[in-house]
Amino acid sequence: MSKTLFAVFGNPVSHSKSPLMHNLAFRGLGFDGCYTRYLLTDGTTLKKTFFDLKLKGINITVPHKEHAYHACDEWDSFAKKVGVVNTIVEKEGKLYGYNTDAPGFLKAISKFKDIKTVLFLGAGGTAQSTSTILRDEGYEVILLNRSQGRLEKFKEDGFETYTFENFMPKKYDLVINMTSAGLADDSLPAPLEILEQVISTAKACVDVIYGKETPFLKLAKRYDKPTKDGSDMLLYQGIIAFEHFTNHHYSFEEIKTYMEKTFDFN
Ligand code: NDP
Repeated sequence: MSKTLFAVFGNPVSHSKSPLMHNLAFRGLGFDGCYTRYLLTDGTTLKKTFFDLKLKGINITVPHKEHAYHACDEWDSFAKKVGVVNTIVEKEGKLYGYNTDAPGFLKAISKFKDIKTVLFLGAGGTAQSTSTILRDEGYEVILLNRSQGRLEKFKEDGFETYTFENFMPKKYDLVINMTSAGLADDSLPAPLEILEQVISTAKACVDVIYGKETPFLKLAKRYDKPTKDGSDMLLYQGIIAFEHFTNHHYSFEEIKTYMEKTFDFN
């Protein structure tokens, strides 16, 4: 019997840790699967490519998460609500879409206790799903973005939103860098005066970027704040995707045992 095939679709995709994460778990758990990466340049071909490659499941990364949503026949309720899919599983010829980024993120920040107000720096695709799940869970989410455009949708959805120009800082329990500032450069996600104000009064600071200490996290450490980077979010979204890929045959903790070995390879 041939192996069950999985992949991550993205552009770029060469940097993705998903193949390593999933293959470690397949091997550790004795599941006869193989996970690879696929450079998808045209998001509209996602569905055809999925079937041409005879895949059972995929993860989808930048910039195809909205195309992935439209490629599906069915969605879980949360993916349907946010219109963003990062995991697809084929069942009897139909494509089922899930969003595992948001529950992965929720779990990653659950170690911080007594958190009510959360300031998001950034308003991109990741902020969209994660702000919704936090609000569903009872957190108050406020968004601060460098430009107005992306904030419009959040405003329509009833979130409190600001640009740097009209921001009036208050005290927020958690401050999260949801931007790509610091990913490939050394920039901060907002002007230093604003960051110093919100970080100094926060209980903790989180960055969704992983694999490096960003200028934002360095600044938070200078204020002696508890911090967390994006590694746990990456790990947890992967574990939840793996649960869908293997039809919930393995427990979260079983999968974690093998998948977390990914970070030994750094
Ligand atoms: P998007 O491209 O959708 O949005 C980017 C956001 O960052 C926008 O709000 C943009 O502001 C802002 N931004 C970009 N550069 C700067 C800058 N120099 N200064 C201030 N703001 C800036 O990105 P995503 O939402 O898809 O991704 C955001 C981050 O999340 C990335 O760093 C990505 O690596 C990370 N991520 C981590 C995951 C994990 O598992 N840990 C999973 C998914 C994403 P504007 O609107 O003004 O352009």
